[in-house]
Order: sequence, then C-alpha cells, then structure tokens
Amino acid sequence: MKQQLLDTLEQIAGKENIHPNEPMSRHTTFRVGGPADVLVTPEAEKLAAVTGACREAGEPYYIVGNGSNLLVGDGGIRGVVILTRDGMDEISADGVRITAGAGALLSRTASLAASHALTGMEFAAGIPGTIGGAVVMNAGAYGGEMRDIIETVTVLDETGVQHVLSVEELELGYRTSCILKKHYIVTQAVLKLAAGEEQAIRARMKELATQRAEKQPLEYPSAGSTFKRPEGYFAGKLIMDAGLRGYRVGGAQVSQKHCGFVVNTGNATAQDVRTLIADVSAEVDRQFQVKLEPEIKMLGEF
Ligand SMILES: Cc1cc2nc3c(=O)[nH]c(=O)nc-3n(C[C@H](O)[C@H](O)[C@H](O)COP(=O)(O)OP(=O)(O)OC[C@H]3O[C@@H](n4cnc5c(N)ncnc54)[C@H](O)[C@@H]3O)c2cc1C
Repeated sequence: MKQQLLDTLEQIAGKENIHPNEPMSRHTTFRVGGPADVLVTPEAEKLAAVTGACREAGEPYYIVGNGSNLLVGDGGIRGVVILTRDGMDEISADGVRITAGAGALLSRTASLAASHALTGMEFAAGIPGTIGGAVVMNAGAYGGEMRDIIETVTVLDETGVQHVLSVEELELGYRTSCILKKHYIVTQAVLKLAAGEEQAIRARMKELATQRAEKQPLEYPSAGSTFKRPEGYFAGKLIMDAGLRGYRVGGAQVSQKHCGFVVNTGNATAQDVRTLIADVSAEVDRQFQVKLEPEIKMLGEF
C-alpha cells in the first residue's frame, strides 16, 4: 500500500479512522482472518471521497458491515477495507418509515422500530448484521426477509455516482441481490413498516430470541448458517444424516447443536473452516447427490 494513499485517506477520513494492518479477526463474527492492509471507518459523507481516492491510486477496496457472513483468509486482505459499522450508522423514524445508514445494526434498528410501535421488523432483530449486509444478502428469518420491508435503497456505483433503487431494482432473491454483481455500495435504506403495539412487538422479538438461543450455537463464534438451503432439503439435516455432526478440521467444527452451523471452537484458522466446508459438501454430495452451496462470503488471501 502506497504511503501517498494512506496520507490521502487520513486527510479525508481523519487519522483516528485509519487502521493499518488491522487483523480482520477483530471484525468478523467467526473471529478468524488475517490483516487488512488498511481498514477505514469513514463517516457516511466521506465514503465517496474514500472510494474515489482508492480508485485513483489503483488500490482495490472491499466493504464490510458486521462481518457476520464473512470468512476472511488467514493471509488477510490486500487493499482497503471500508467498515461501515462504526461511522455510517444513523437511524431515524418518520411515520411508518425508518431511514437507516448502511452500518446500523439490525438489532438497533429493530429496537428503534419497536420504540416507535412499528411492526414488520421483528424477524430481523436477532440477525447480527448491518442494514447494508442485510440488503446485500436479503437476510431473512422466521418467515420474514428484508424484501418485505425495504422501500428504497441508496447506493454508490463504481464511479462514485449515487442511485436510489426501488425494491424491484435490487433483484432480491433467496440470500441474494444485485448489489455485489453490480459492485454497488449500500449507503442507506428506507424501510416501510406498519403501525403496531410496542408491547406485542417486543414480546415477539423476545420469543424469536429465545427460539434462536435454543436452536443455534450462539456460544461459539460462527457466521450463522454456513450453507444455503438446497431446493427441497435442509442443509443441517443433510449434514446430520451424512454423519457429520461434530466433524472437525483443526479448530473448526460442524456444530453439535445445529449441523447447519460451522463454529470456531477457539483456535480455528480460515483454512480449517474452508477445508471443513469443502469436506462437508463433498460428503453430502457423495451420499445424497445434493450440492451444498456456501451462504457465507469468502474474502482475501487463504
Ligand atoms: C449467529 C448468527 C446468526 C445468523 N442468523 C441469520 C439469519 O437468521 N438470517 C440471515 O439471513 N442471516 C443470518 N446470519 C448471517 C448474517 O448475519 C447476515 O447475512 C447479515 O445480513 C450479514 O450482515 P453483515 O453486516 O454482517 O455483512 P458482512 O458479513 O459484513 O458482509 C456480507 C457481504 O455483504 C457485503 N456488504 C456488507 N455491507 C455492504 C454495503 N454497505 N454495501 C455493499 N456491500 C456490503 C460484504 O462485502 C459481503 O460480501 C447469521 C449470522 C450469525 C453469526
């Protein structure tokens, strides 16, 4: 990384928001991943200038929200990581609409919705991602998904131009959208909810949190469901039926509690996780002729 780009980024975002050689294990819920050349935590207004400076210097940049769907390689990331969670997280409510910055956590956004007696976002309260990551993934749970509540999403394109996209333009499908394909950066989303009753909304959120804690291995670092649900099957059941419950590679393990989760038992490397994912996919394919596709995104050098 050229010193000149570091200096420019410092001028744009402020020295306190520039972190050279930052271990990505600090920014992923898997708690694995080597260092990013530099990690930047810009305020929303500075984002276009940051990406512009990277483009001008010919340096790649990558967007990370809460790192809850990410496996970063042990060799880390060559280039600039822009972390949205720390500086782009404003949320406000107006009538039945909530406007949230890309870095706002779903839990905080859902809680604000509840305090304004707005219903529709309860499903998302326990998903440990940001608004940006949730739009990219069309995150969903317990019968709800982001597609149900998004009204518009503001993005920056590859040339730094801003667009406001309708829900149709986002091409939201099962854990997918057009954002990564088009190299957009989500900067903000407007969610349209409905008037409800705060007590009932909070009760539903609590009920779903209890269900999550009962079924999911929340006591270990992970990136949630490792595989997408294959049509007509459940990934966790296939993995269990293949006899892979508790299967280990180094510090990575198929969760004993929920076979759809790969967990870090304490000292896993990204390579352990990647090898385990490949082994599990191969074994499920061998036994049941079903191809498991990772839901988690891989980034950086392995
Ligand atoms: C314990 C646990 C439970 C989970 N449960 C669920 C669940 O019930 N349902 C579900 O759908 N998911 C679940 N997940 C997965 C994850 O929380 C979601 O996919 C979440 O939406 C990811 O958000 P994030 O901010 O962490 O994204 P990240 O992991 O930081 O990024 C994911 C992808 O989106 C890109 N990205 C992030 N922000 C932006 C942006 N602003 N602009 C452009 N690209 C961006 C990244 O480059 C990356 O490719 C779970 C994860 C864990 C650890």
